[in-house]
Amino acid sequence: MLDGSLSARRCGARLVVGDLITPAKRAILQVLAEAIKAIMSLLAGKLGLVFGVANKRSIAWAIAQAWQRAGARLAFTYQGERLKENVEELAGTFGPDTLLLPCDVTKDEEIARVYSEVGEKFGKLHLLLHSVAFAPREALEGEFINTSREAFRIAHDVSAYSLVALARGAAPLMTEGGSIVAMSYYGAEKVVPHYNVMGVAKAALEASTRYLAYDLGPKAIRVNCISAGPVNTLAARGIAGFTEMLKRYQEKAPLQRNVLPQELGATGVFLASDGAAAITGQVLYVDCGYQIMAM
Ligand code: NAD
Repeated sequence: MLDGSLSARRCGARLVVGDLITPAKRAILQVLAEAIKAIMSLLAGKLGLVFGVANKRSIAWAIAQAWQRAGARLAFTYQGERLKENVEELAGTFGPDTLLLPCDVTKDEEIARVYSEVGEKFGKLHLLLHSVAFAPREALEGEFINTSREAFRIAHDVSAYSLVALARGAAPLMTEGGSIVAMSYYGAEKVVPHYNVMGVAKAALEASTRYLAYDLGPKAIRVNCISAGPVNTLAARGIAGFTEMLKRYQEKAPLQRNVLPQELGATGVFLASDGAAAITGQVLYVDCGYQIMAM
């Protein structure tokens, strides 16, 4: 239990040591301290593996930070040498011994090496974040009808099949049950101009989520997608008309704004926690309500 003055400082109240704390104030501070402690221990003792951090704007980084604050211990992967330094710097803020491994998700041998090293270091795993997607740029600009066979293959390999491969690698380590979270987008369900083949790949990702949830349910491993509203990240900037998309959401969404990365982090904690113990195979929209609107 935190003492009154410390709790007050954490909550931003203007109390300093020596202030008179009435019994009523002390009771409020105690409730707040308990709430902070509860939030900070929601994922205590959980071991997690994060795929998809490229930089500090990455959705994966927002969720990783929230998981870590909730008490989880995490390992990270990065796509290749180009991103190593970025991810090393970010992951390093979680402690110098944070496990960091290269992994191009289209390479089975790199995936196998990740799980072998995670198994060696952690012994088991509870959480897996899949926050990875890619489609060749030209496929996100013109008309969907012109998608090449190769662009279709790459988009599905990186953005959808990888969830199957990563879940298969994680399952043997999730001996105490687990939570797998993947990132999707509304373009899986409705046509979003320019999203093109990525929408089709996200539909495959969401369907894969349901089939994986069925396969892994008996092992108490849950698999869910967060369908996020637009967030200004490296991947998002590759979609033609992305700025327009942000504006449209602000105008149309019931909450009249765009989602914050921190809010995706909080949803990530919820899905990873016992609060979501009976939720699997779902796509959860975290988009300020945009998905419910027809006009
Ligand atoms: P981001 O660019 O920060 O993250 C994408 C990640 O995918 C990067 O870390 C990149 O290294 C990784 N990646 C791409 N190809 C890979 C490969 N072959 N092997 C390993 N990693 C690879 O962008 P983001 O917006 O944070 O994207 C994360 C996820 O969120 C994606 O699945 C994206 O589709 C989804 N999403 C994003 C938005 C948005 O508006 N930003 C909205 C909904 C869903």
